[in-house]
Amino acid sequence: MLKIKDLHASVEGKEILKGLNLEVKAGEIHAIMGPNGAGKSTLANIVAGKEEYEVTDGEILLNGEDIEELATEERAHKGVFLSFQYPVEIPGVTVTNFMKTAINETRKAQGLEEMPAKDMLKKIREKSELLEIDRKFLSRSLNEGFSGGEKKRNEIFQMAMMEPKLAILDETDSGLDIDALRIVANGVNKLKSNDNAIVVITHYQRLLDYIVPDFVHVLYDGKIVKSGTKELALELEEKGYDWIKEEINA
Ligand code: ADP
Ligand code: MG
Ligand code: MG
Repeated sequence: MLKIKDLHASVEGKEILKGLNLEVKAGEIHAIMGPNGAGKSTLANIVAGKEEYEVTDGEILLNGEDIEELATEERAHKGVFLSFQYPVEIPGVTVTNFMKTAINETRKAQGLEEMPAKDMLKKIREKSELLEIDRKFLSRSLNEGFSGGEKKRNEIFQMAMMEPKLAILDETDSGLDIDALRIVANGVNKLKSNDNAIVVITHYQRLLDYIVPDFVHVLYDGKIVKSGTKELALELEEKGYDWIKEEINA
């Protein structure tokens, strides 16, 4: 699904990613952890194609295709979903209507007809039931007065509706409470399938009490310096990141 080879990238002339390798296969959940400033959000933004980041070396392959030259939207149309892509408040536009527009715009870009209203409603009903989202929530104005948990719920709903091939959830929000963590975790667990891959970026070990990742990676100073299974997250929770620093410098 996603293969990143020796990725080097800079922001404003400063090298942030320094030879990062990562392979994510369909059907897998990967967690990327690491201290603040390690480059986690930079990695997410680069895979999604945000323009302020400059890739100076290496490759990003999506299903074997080099996506470096593709714009953010083109990557989205190929099934790349990055959370927090639509954090704006849009008064007067409901959660549902926003989703209908997003889906139909994507279909249009893919050369497809608009989704028939009946199918759209069915899909909205299915996904909201799966994620236990109530009807009232769906008719609220997008992000207007949303709590942290509601923002997460909306984000996970967007992910469910878009059915991405590769979903990247960057949990940058330090205000995430336990409710919000549960919402994200439930959504991820329910949306996992053999056809998609999910990358969860977090510095909350707590999130991994609810999500069972197939792999856990530590991103440190612009590189993946250690990979393992869920046990690695537990080890990090217990010992912090200093021992990794020592291991690297040894
Ligand atoms: P993390 O998500 O692991 O906390 P980030 O990827 O946000 O780390 O940041 C890594 C480094 O890159 C930091 O030093 C940060 O200041 C810098 N950085 C990230 N994005 C930008 C940007 N758009 N402009 C300038 N510096 C940035
Ligand atoms: Mg940060
Ligand atoms: Mg970050």
